[in-house]
Amino acid sequence: MAATPSKSSTDAPQPAGLRGFLRAHAGFVPNPISRRSRALRPRIQDAKYAVSVCPFCAVGCSQRVYVKDGKVIDIEGNQDSPISGGHLCPKGASTYQLLVNPNRPTKVLYRAPRSDHWEERPLDWAMERIAERTKAARDADFQQTNADGVRINRLQSVASIGGATLDNEENYLILKLFRNLGIVHLTNQARI
Ligand code: SF4
Repeated sequence: MAATPSKSSTDAPQPAGLRGFLRAHAGFVPNPISRRSRALRPRIQDAKYAVSVCPFCAVGCSQRVYVKDGKVIDIEGNQDSPISGGHLCPKGASTYQLLVNPNRPTKVLYRAPRSDHWEERPLDWAMERIAERTKAARDADFQQTNADGVRINRLQSVASIGGATLDNEENYLILKLFRNLGIVHLTNQARI
């Protein structure tokens, strides 16, 4: 985008009196805000918003999801929230990128056993592969009882480490699925 030349704030009309003076100065120095800056408008101007809750952790910070022309254009903290007062931590502040992100990888890199290079594979292929490997491990290692004959229904050869971008609902589903498989080694980053 071509840069617009900056002009001194004295070029723009100012309110009269003390208010005008204060707005036009930083101390006794003329305010350096350019005419271009004065003309800038927030990206959420004229957008509607729906109130939502940050999906990441149990603090439950409130968000405003801004929509314009049928598209989500931004997600920001909701200043009406008695919990978060308009603030979001770095995770919550990145929620928009979780939803709208052209850089999101849609393929996985796979290195076959004993191979010296990575190969691109589709995401669906990776999901199938994980399911196959999980079933094979469970079939081989599932422990129905311990040495004393007590029923334990446990699988220790599979574990899950959750990343920071898993939300509350995803972690809930992971917990339900994996506990039903007998997996006991589970952790995630939504423990607040
Ligand atoms: S992840 Fe951050 S912004 Fe989201 S609810 Fe938790 S503390 Fe609030």
